[in-house]
Amino acid sequence: MPLGFLKSTREPSRSATEGQAGERRARPERTAVLGEVEELGVGMFWATDEAGNLSFLSQRAITELGDTSGELIGQPITRVFSDVEPEAGAPAQRSLAFKMKARSRLEEQIVAVPDGRGSTRWWRLNARPLIDAAGTFKGYRGSAVDISSQYAYETQVARQSQVDELTGLANRRKLNERLTAMLAAFRVSQRSCALMMLDLDRFKQVNDTMGHPAGDELLKQVAERLKSIVKDSGEVGRLGGDEFQVLLPDMDDRGTLGELANRIVQSLSQPYQINGRRAIIGTSVGIAIAPYDGLEADELTGAADMALYSAKETRGGTFCFFTSELREAASKTAMLGDRLRDAVDRDELKLAYQPLVDPVTNEVKCFEALLRWHDSEEGDISPAQFIPVAENDDLIIRIGEMALRQACMDALAWPETIKVAVNVSAKQFVRPGYRKAVAAALDASGLSPGRLELEITESVFAGDLETVDAIFRDLKKLGVRLALDDFGTGYSSLGYLKHGHFDKIKIDQSFVRGCTENGDINPAIITAIVALAKALGMETVAEGVEAMDELNLVRERGADLVQGYIYSRPLTQDQVTQQFAEGSVIFRPSGPPRHRAERITIFRKVGLIHEDHYYDVILRNLSKTGARITGLAGVPVGTDVVLDLGHGQLVVSKVVNATENSQGLHFETPLISDGCGGFMTRHRISPYSLAEAGIPLAALGAGAFPLAKWREANKTVPKFVQLELSVPNA
Ligand code: C2E
Ligand code: CA
Ligand code: CA
Repeated sequence: MPLGFLKSTREPSRSATEGQAGERRARPERTAVLGEVEELGVGMFWATDEAGNLSFLSQRAITELGDTSGELIGQPITRVFSDVEPEAGAPAQRSLAFKMKARSRLEEQIVAVPDGRGSTRWWRLNARPLIDAAGTFKGYRGSAVDISSQYAYETQVARQSQVDELTGLANRRKLNERLTAMLAAFRVSQRSCALMMLDLDRFKQVNDTMGHPAGDELLKQVAERLKSIVKDSGEVGRLGGDEFQVLLPDMDDRGTLGELANRIVQSLSQPYQINGRRAIIGTSVGIAIAPYDGLEADELTGAADMALYSAKETRGGTFCFFTSELREAASKTAMLGDRLRDAVDRDELKLAYQPLVDPVTNEVKCFEALLRWHDSEEGDISPAQFIPVAENDDLIIRIGEMALRQACMDALAWPETIKVAVNVSAKQFVRPGYRKAVAAALDASGLSPGRLELEITESVFAGDLETVDAIFRDLKKLGVRLALDDFGTGYSSLGYLKHGHFDKIKIDQSFVRGCTENGDINPAIITAIVALAKALGMETVAEGVEAMDELNLVRERGADLVQGYIYSRPLTQDQVTQQFAEGSVIFRPSGPPRHRAERITIFRKVGLIHEDHYYDVILRNLSKTGARITGLAGVPVGTDVVLDLGHGQLVVSKVVNATENSQGLHFETPLISDGCGGFMTRHRISPYSLAEAGIPLAALGAGAFPLAKWREANKTVPKFVQLELSVPNA
């Protein structure tokens, strides 16, 4: 098989911590051992500092690189090791810079290196980030093997081939050629095309626990499922590893694309049968559309890749469209990691407690511990944002254990009948040592195990279910209770419930919020989940209840407990103990009588077009069907306007209510969900039509506000009074 070097036998991957703790011998001896190992031809060794500059090269590496004068030390590693060109038929891999920025392990990363004599060699790298005892990132420690001769042969074979041998799908080379040709042709005929980038979630676990043949079999089944969904609306290919791509000509409707992506996510996350064993994986999808997000193959692929990364960051098992904000967010995330580490060191993360209340008696039965982080510059940062960042390295273990210990201690101050629930990240849960940490937290606090509940999401059911089963059994032996969180999202499979591990199911907010709206199937789903849980002897919780009508509905449908703003927002430990000191275990519901369509509060400068004039306005909030804006005075109800949300997103709207300087707009066509919690238009104005209007052809994703140019060219007389605008932090 041509790309055999992808999964070759591994060279020993050097663990930095092993290297430090394991051997306390004199330095010269260690260097000698390194030299002897290198002599065997097993590999070479290198290291970087925390900024990514080369800080060490072993003797043989120095020789191979021809670096006799030691010039390479101190250079950014990405300048010494370059990514291999995808056209070379190499298996798919993220760029070295990308991986190092994310502080991920390098596994069999292939790079090109100069040999000091003007030609290029190919090395295969393995490395891991070194995190010291305090959790600080200290750089990379890695090994390298020269694979040049093998590589040259295999790329040549791959070059001649157009199909991926394992799955029979188009390979990277063919996909790339197709994309390039299609974009060139479509530019002439002004057609659009969408690119979906897929990356399987947790495929590696299957590969590692069930073996490579099982992994191969899984990839084949994935390919089959993909083909049967996409059919002839597009071309499916495998880039290599667990990355797939779908090319969809004449597709620019983001509504349709979102539905397709959703179907792919759902289908691929159904269980697989492999040699009589069951395995579950998920997938994340990133979507970019030409000509809006990119005109050239590179640009479009980069955009889809960034969207994919964002989908994975969100929580996996989801899709995401490219937006220019993603680019900014990517650099923000990198910074967040450093800040978070400092916050943990300074003990700045706190816990808040939200009650779970019996909706019949209004008595609190349990509190869920939720992390809170207040950063001096960024303000309050949501755990939904920083937990995924912590999951990138060992920080999640420290944070998770802190939350566990603190919650057990805090619960001791409450009445004995009241439980405490602690969230567990899937990454933390599957790590060896988790059971021990739970036992230690119980021991240290003296909390009775039956009062501790661990909230786990479906994403723990990854890879080999037998291993997961064993962890569950261990925890049950400790006597703690287990709750299945966010039920109904992601990888939902009723199969998990039958194993009988869970004491409680938490019905996800997305089923509860707005469940009373007409024609909604959510009430039926809630009823079904409650009935199923009852039959299996589990408690149910309805999460995210905000309005009275929702509370009434979930109570009627038999939910045992309710958690949501209707009873209380998360409280501090002081507030909780205060209430108990007053002798009350009752929380009274209070909230709006009925659910209102979800609005996202934003303060963003956008444009508003009326007749031929372009105004600046501030978007105060946005829902699927309407928006509230400020910044104009004297706009009568009934005025037809066009809202410009930027990046080619124009929304035909009508003013439906107005105060002196704020207006409510109703959209002619509703917006659609962007898959990551926001809204967007189905269609955008095409860069082609902008080009026809005299604006140079460019993708919209670059942050251009194309209509601003149009405005400059059209100096018209305004009908309404433009007020001066200022936007906080925008
Ligand atoms: P979750 O476990 O689903 O927690 C419920 C989230 O919904 C909390 O957000 C809570 O404040 C919010 N919520 C509760 N009632 C309502 C309501 O009526 N309306 C609305 N709109 N929201 C409501 P929070 O605190 O931002 O936490 C977000 C997520 O972060 C949690 O989702 C959980 O997955 C994660 N998380 C929080 N603390 C921890 C932790 O200690 N460890 C881990 N691994 N994850 C945590
Ligand atoms: Ca939870
Ligand atoms: Ca939840």
